[in-house]
Amino acid sequence: MRYGSSTLDAELFLAAETIAAAPRDGTVLLACHVNPDGDALGSMLGFGLGLRRFGFTSVYASFPEPFEVAEPFRFLPGLDLLVDPGKAPARPDLAVSFDAASPGRLGELIGALESAPTWIMLDHHGSNTGFGSIRLVDPDAAATAVVAADLLARLGVVVDREIATCFYVAIATDTGSFKFDATTSEVLALAARLVEAGAEPGDVARRVFDTRPFAAIQLLAEVLNRAELDPSAADGRGLVSAYATMADLERYGQPIHVLESFMDVVRTAAEADVACLVKPVAPGQWAVSLRSKGGTDVAAVAVALGGGGHRLAAGFTGYGEAAEVLGTVRDKLDRSEKIRVD
Ligand code: AMP
Ligand code: MN
Ligand code: MN
Repeated sequence: MRYGSSTLDAELFLAAETIAAAPRDGTVLLACHVNPDGDALGSMLGFGLGLRRFGFTSVYASFPEPFEVAEPFRFLPGLDLLVDPGKAPARPDLAVSFDAASPGRLGELIGALESAPTWIMLDHHGSNTGFGSIRLVDPDAAATAVVAADLLARLGVVVDREIATCFYVAIATDTGSFKFDATTSEVLALAARLVEAGAEPGDVARRVFDTRPFAAIQLLAEVLNRAELDPSAADGRGLVSAYATMADLERYGQPIHVLESFMDVVRTAAEADVACLVKPVAPGQWAVSLRSKGGTDVAAVAVALGGGGHRLAAGFTGYGEAAEVLGTVRDKLDRSEKIRVD
């Protein structure tokens, strides 16, 4: 929560007024970014449950294809709010988007979101491009769920165990289990309130972070084994990189989402400020994750390559062979003066 921002405060006030004035039997469409992570799903489902508590009777939540919730998030409360993007209401009375830094991240749901008389956009990416009719973007917030919790509080919604679990998962995932710099005292205080309301940190950690199929561990070993360290990259700050292919996933019988956690190991390489993980999406298409320990603005690199994110955690979609994509990243890291953080 950035109380210092009067614009955000005014927009939050306006959003709460608009929601409070909306007919409770109107259709509400909630949408979050493609391949939703804990924050995208947690902020959206927690907020959706809150709207139900507030009295809305027709709340639908969705995200772009592939319409599949990653296994670790299948215990989240509010999954019954989810509808296939093809079945989402085409002309909702109210639309709310979560954790998407640009409209493109909302894929085929854009048309329905744009057709709503009001589209409230909740996000926390510094790279947010500005869209929707009421824009609640707090780049200092650790997660979109922080903004969502603030808005629910303004509506006077009491956070129950289910809402608390959704928001807790969102905050725990986006802070890397309360380890990243965005873990302020306000975030910890919010987490404490969520635990008081019934969220269970141990259970969430076991389900979301500490459980994976044995074959995924073996795949991790293979991916780590081929990781490369280039200490001279990024003007000598160093780059550690790794990739996995569709063939790797097939060989180990694993879905794409198991790769999400691999970055947490790769990025620990002491010799590199920047870490890059290239994950397959479709033939010739890659989801590229970038992380920095503090010396590099990886959001600038990601934005330059068509993506977005935060200063120390960002991503973009790459095309071609994995090696080519890595080459592009190396190039951008070397050539941009603006990305060094002093
Ligand atoms: P990830 O590496 O997927 O965990 O993403 C790190 C951050 O970058 C998240 O805040 C994402 O929302 C953002 N991000 C990842 N991929 C993209 C993309 N293709 N376009 C815009 N932002 C992205
Ligand atoms: Mn996200
Ligand atoms: Mn987020």
